[in-house]
Amino acid sequence: MKGTTHLAIGVGIGLAAAAYYPFTPNNAALYITVAAFSSLSPDLDGNSMLSSKLGKVSKLVRELLLWGGVALAIGVAYVYYDQRILHQQLALTAGAAFLLGFIAKEGSIRNILVSLIGGAVLYWGMMNNITWMIGFGLFVAIAPWMHHRGLTHTLWALIAWGAIGAALESELQLEGISNVAIAGYLSHLITDTMTPAGVKWLYPLSKKSIKIMH
Ligand SMILES: [Zn+2]
Repeated sequence: MKGTTHLAIGVGIGLAAAAYYPFTPNNAALYITVAAFSSLSPDLDGNSMLSSKLGKVSKLVRELLLWGGVALAIGVAYVYYDQRILHQQLALTAGAAFLLGFIAKEGSIRNILVSLIGGAVLYWGMMNNITWMIGFGLFVAIAPWMHHRGLTHTLWALIAWGAIGAALESELQLEGISNVAIAGYLSHLITDTMTPAGVKWLYPLSKKSIKIMH
């Protein structure tokens, strides 16, 4: 399944959450970022996310995420430098957008860099006792070394992702974040299940690939 398809569904889930829960622009950005990220994260595995033939739209989305993240990070850094105020939610959004654009690249250098980012998040989480960052950092550091549609495409990974989402929700004190994280990740597994290769939901307990199309 193409990365842009997963991303489009993820953004849809984020928009639905932004409409459902009490609205602020900040919260909307967070719901959309978490949903988009969750809908793409299973493909943090060794899989090349946006297939080797990148369409124009995929390329544009990737560059927008990458440079949007960079621009937002610069903005947050400037406000911090200028007024000593750290906009934590915006900083998170910037980091997520940057990583999203970045993970869409492919190859072993991509794997190493994604792992390094995961390691940095893990380190930061451990230094500051931030539970979701520890879980998320671990996930990002390990996932690139899993084979294509392996452990990241299982019920176990979905449960782990839900736990990370719950920890993030209590950190941000923002209702619905864990639901959005679970819905995003689940949407990825379901859409992959609709492809001919299917998904091994219970791997390694069962190596049977579950698919809807035959
Ligand atoms: Zn996938």
